[in-house]
Amino acid sequence: MKNRRLAPNHVVVFDALKKAGRPVTAYELIDLLRPVGISAPPTVYRALNRLIADGLAHKLESTSAYVACAHAHSNDSVPVFEICDSCGGAHEFADADIGDHLFRRASEHGFTVSRMAIEIHGTCARCR
Ligand SMILES: [Zn+2]
Ligand SMILES: [Zn+2]
Repeated sequence: MKNRRLAPNHVVVFDALKKAGRPVTAYELIDLLRPVGISAPPTVYRALNRLIADGLAHKLESTSAYVACAHAHSNDSVPVFEICDSCGGAHEFADADIGDHLFRRASEHGFTVSRMAIEIHGTCARCR
């Protein structure tokens, strides 16, 4: 999936997201991209959707912010985000045990999981 070729715009958006180094809203991202000539929101949203579909970026649902994926993870490991409410930073790690557990519980309810991410809010080590 990751071998699919990204359009030049997608690469530029991905680079901006990586350079931001923290979760950014779509509007913040558009501000970051304006100097390189991308300012049309549909272009940015299209690129973000593609990056998310390819597993290169995530949308944090609890803050409506986008973040570059910190590492490649397989489908059976669930991305977990520690989101600092003080600095807005997010640390991503993957946890297969949580994934196994939640997949099992969901299937007990007859629920089919299509995607899963866990967002934990709190204070990061640097801000504490
Ligand atoms: Zn990730
Ligand atoms: Zn912090």
